[in-house]
Amino acid sequence: MSDKKHIVVIGGGPAGCVAAERLSRLGFRVSIVEKECELGGNLNNWDRLFPDGKRASEMVTKLVNDVKMADVAVWTDVEPIEAKRVENGFTILLSDKSLLFADAVMLTTGFAPFNAIRKEEYGYGIYRNVTTSVELENMIQAHIVPDTVSRVGMVHCVGSRDEKCGNMYCSKVCCITAVKQAIELKQMLPNAEIFCFYMDMRMFGPGYEELYREAQERYGIKFVRGRVSEASEDSEGRVAIKVEDTLVGRPMRMKLDRLVLMVGMEPSAGTRSVAELLGVKTKVNGFIQGGDPHIAANQTNVPGVFVAGTATAPMNSTDTLNDACAAAFQVANYLNG
Ligand code: SF4
Repeated sequence: MSDKKHIVVIGGGPAGCVAAERLSRLGFRVSIVEKECELGGNLNNWDRLFPDGKRASEMVTKLVNDVKMADVAVWTDVEPIEAKRVENGFTILLSDKSLLFADAVMLTTGFAPFNAIRKEEYGYGIYRNVTTSVELENMIQAHIVPDTVSRVGMVHCVGSRDEKCGNMYCSKVCCITAVKQAIELKQMLPNAEIFCFYMDMRMFGPGYEELYREAQERYGIKFVRGRVSEASEDSEGRVAIKVEDTLVGRPMRMKLDRLVLMVGMEPSAGTRSVAELLGVKTKVNGFIQGGDPHIAANQTNVPGVFVAGTATAPMNSTDTLNDACAAAFQVANYLNG
């Protein structure tokens, strides 16, 4: 048995892969515990990344190769079912009855997309032409967007910035996702009309503002400031919406072939359960409470347990990877005393 200190990384998405690889290269023994049968997390459900259109699968391949090259032990199809603090570390019992000892634990359990059924007014799960941005991404990935679609509406902030859902936060990535997907639709269906219904456009990342401008000027995508208040289905299966254009103060009615709900991020089930097992505090919105946001964001209230990526707050993939690197160094500092 190696005398290297052992870190168990719970969650094998992008944050987990990067943190594990960095920690291994810093000289620690590292294991990733992943509940799915493969590494990559939510990136496995994504076609292209914004703003540059890089394929998500290329990124997953790189992350998985880096993990392999760094000699990280990978446990898939398992999840922690029990965790105990013991002298100098933790014991973690997995669902296949394996027992791991960890000197430190890193939580990278990621996010889950908001369940759009909770927004009844949009008719998701009832009307066949109401879909989510995640489903649209899968359709784009599989090249199965019907060429009969000629008018599409995209509703921003579904499940985010919404008191009724209990999610007051901005999910940060759904404005740029709408812009990216609207452009992709327009490239596939040049004659289609695409409308984005937004409250505010939050284009904070590098290249985002430029892509937003390109969407308007080159692709003619129309951005309407206003909330869709209601959706219904007509006899031909088209989606009829009511929306108020708040810039001109005018109510609008429109019929669409497809209504796409830009769903936000919520804490994953794994984030909630592992926080409970380890006694880690969560915020009122269910994401894990980090330490001081300026200097110790990757620490938790339990010494030896760290957190990175979207288990702690919504963020894009670039910020997730950077956060995971920062977290790896905090774990190394902790274990090196
Ligand atoms: S990123 Fe845009 S769509 Fe997403 S919650 Fe924030 S403002 Fe709404």
